Amino acid sequence: GGLPRFANDPMVDFTRPDHRAAFPAALAQVRANAGKTYPLFIGGQEVTTADLIPTVNPAKPSEVLGQICQAGIPEVTRAIAAAKAVFPAWRDTPPRERAQYLLKAAEIARRRAFELSAWQVLEIGKQWDQAYADVGEAIDFLEYYAREMIRLGTPQRVGNAPGELNHYFYEPKGLAAVIAPWNFPLAISMGMASAAIVTGNPVIYKPSNITGIIGHHLMEIFKEAGLPAGVFNYVPGRGSVMGDFLVDHPDISLIAFTGSMEVGLRIVERAAKVYPGQPNVKKIISEMGGKNAIIIDDDADLDEAVPHVLYSAFAFQGQKCSACSRVIVLDAVYDRFTERLVKAAQAYRIGPSEDPANTMGAVADAAAQKSILEYAALGKQEGKLLYESPIPQGEGYWVPLTIVGGITPQHRLAQEEVFGPVLAVMRAKDFDQAVEWANSTRFALTGGIFSRSPEHLAQARRDFRVGNLYINRNNTGAQVERQPFGGARMSGVGTKSGGPDYLLHFMDPRVVTENT
Ligand code: NAP
Repeated sequence: GGLPRFANDPMVDFTRPDHRAAFPAALAQVRANAGKTYPLFIGGQEVTTADLIPTVNPAKPSEVLGQICQAGIPEVTRAIAAAKAVFPAWRDTPPRERAQYLLKAAEIARRRAFELSAWQVLEIGKQWDQAYADVGEAIDFLEYYAREMIRLGTPQRVGNAPGELNHYFYEPKGLAAVIAPWNFPLAISMGMASAAIVTGNPVIYKPSNITGIIGHHLMEIFKEAGLPAGVFNYVPGRGSVMGDFLVDHPDISLIAFTGSMEVGLRIVERAAKVYPGQPNVKKIISEMGGKNAIIIDDDADLDEAVPHVLYSAFAFQGQKCSACSRVIVLDAVYDRFTERLVKAAQAYRIGPSEDPANTMGAVADAAAQKSILEYAALGKQEGKLLYESPIPQGEGYWVPLTIVGGITPQHRLAQEEVFGPVLAVMRAKDFDQAVEWANSTRFALTGGIFSRSPEHLAQARRDFRVGNLYINRNNTGAQVERQPFGGARMSGVGTKSGGPDYLLHFMDPRVVTENT
């Protein structure tokens, strides 16, 4: 015992002079460290490779922040061997002791919070508050999963038949591949990796190359926390080169993936095949995309709804799996709502996220920019352009904040994940139709509703089938423990990160029965 109850890490507070001053200082410090080459970390050792990928500032791609060494097949093989060597000892390390490493890592991340945030501002274009929130969530995962493992680590006595003693307890599955996206570059990676580690599964971690430096910092945190060699291996590489090899490898028993539906389903399919010598049926945790809707009822408080919809759709350039990409407005308030939405959107300023005066920054990379611009053009054909913001001139992966009206469920803009700042507005004839449309995609991640009608709220609770439904607030920013996060259908396999069942997916239960 002795641990204080879990509490979420506090948000950054820019009314505090120390917080306000910390960001420019951290940004300057991070810039002074730009241009390094980042090695892999395998079995407790740095490993350099000749194959490098540059990581850049998306607001100014000519600014190279660092070079990431790329793992090929030999390096992945070596990482798997290192993880395999340490597995028996790590599995048999008491859960409480494993939890201590996470608590130590949380302390280190807290100490480095502004620096870790500044890297995110420059490497992926998060606004200051968005970057700090990601670091806070990473800390929350460490603190929460440490406590969860202590809770689950004590064998439970089950049954009450006389003459026998039954103990129910958990053990790790084996080697875990952790494959992460770039959009919550510390939090999502930390969540998946720390869950695997604390449950006793050594990790082979593949970050996205778009945020390879932040991935490297995650490794540094675990290294400083003193994890035994081989428990955490940092192995960035091209998905197209080493992804299938890692997923197919017979020594991998668990794959924790967060990313697109396309890659997630590919992993599910490939991992089903059993190779000679493979010890386990592979367990897949796969958290994927969304096409999230907010419903605006005809009695909604528009003073509340308008800013919350804008924040849900456009914070971090709409590049959250939880982001609102459809707003379904009841006919009676459609014109009033859209007029106010567009007016408020005109106040958004687009430019580099390192300047806190800008409310929207550049998108992840050139491929994201191209894809988003294609969807914006498609939206203009399928519906009616309501607003398109100006964008900065010159270099940078800029796309306009785009709002398109007149979209209906058969349009591609109502069905496909854009993963950028393009919001589709849909006019529903009544509340039943709004709920039906909200459910009319293959995804089921987040959703929202603004309404004052108790009947409609009850109907939404029952029939608006998403993993995370938010009533009269924004539909992003799930908090560890308070809003366990994740979707169903093609959005995910129902594992709910930051919730009480999450660690169970990383372990196998065992029972020992003694005749007494
Ligand atoms: P992505 O393109 O699917 O990539 C995710 C990771 O998979 C990257 O590290 C990628 O590496 C790797 N990968 C690619 N091909 C692979 C293969 N054949 N085998 C193994 N790994 C492979 O997704 P993203 O663009 O990074 O992230 C955006 C997506 O993530 C969106 O769809 C978003 O909705 C989703 N997301 C979901 C959640 C959730 O909790 N449900 C949270 C955040 C994001 P390379 O980059 O080297 O290809």
